[in-house]
Amino acid sequence: MYKDVIVRVDIFEYISKLKKWNITEVKSGNIFKKLEIKGHLLFDAAIQNFVVKNNNIEINNVYLGYPNKKFILKTEGDYKDLLSLELVNTEVQSLFNEVENEVKSAFKNISLTNEPDINIGSHCNKPHHCGFINYCSKAEILKDEKLDTPVWYLGGSPTVKIVKTLMEKGYRDLSQVPDEYLKTDIQIKMKEVSQTKQNFIDKKLIKFLENEPWPRYFLDYETISSPYPLFLGTSPGGRIPFQYSIHKWEQYDKEPIAFDFVHNHTSDPRKNNGTKNM
Ligand code: SF4
Repeated sequence: MYKDVIVRVDIFEYISKLKKWNITEVKSGNIFKKLEIKGHLLFDAAIQNFVVKNNNIEINNVYLGYPNKKFILKTEGDYKDLLSLELVNTEVQSLFNEVENEVKSAFKNISLTNEPDINIGSHCNKPHHCGFINYCSKAEILKDEKLDTPVWYLGGSPTVKIVKTLMEKGYRDLSQVPDEYLKTDIQIKMKEVSQTKQNFIDKKLIKFLENEPWPRYFLDYETISSPYPLFLGTSPGGRIPFQYSIHKWEQYDKEPIAFDFVHNHTSDPRKNNGTKNM
């Protein structure tokens, strides 16, 4: 910690020969296919460098570490070759003053009594999706407001083009939006349902279900994923099922029977009979 800025270094390695430390900032965005911006990665490493240095700890090297997608954990605890390292000493050093200014500016912002007057824009999604997006765009039901169907139900987020356009035009309730502003049959159908309050089930879905043989099974499952492999035979970012539910429906006039399973131990869930066939 330095001046109320707390960092947690991903890998902090003591080089006894040099009596100095290496910092590695691990970035898993590449394995989860998220769009990461190099400048943002460097800034994360630079802020760690800034705090550690200001604690009078001698730094040898600063690296960005990227998990190698092809790595497979073959021996318990052997993570050699898991990371590809990129040396970024020069870059983080050149950001040293910028970090100091950013820290000052962040503390200034959090001490304000009024919210900064900033519109939503691309900065709300890059490098990460901001959790305040609904609040800042007013895509949430306001006090004393009554909405049949909020327009943001069309896209799930106020940054989705159709939602953004409608909100900029002042529309908040889907039932009030003129058809000419709606682009697809589904959007028009959603508006119709919001006005009529009648359930709608697509005939194609009914036909599809009628032709399905009995019994019918409904499977839902959840997976865990980690930038470093947790279990033998797995890779960075690999998905491992640890929980599922299956409903078996035998006939129209019968209630579906539920089966479920959750692996609530730290061992490999795939070894449990419950998930081995998934
Ligand atoms: S959503 Fe987040 S990034 Fe966008 S204006 Fe609001 S606080 Fe700022």
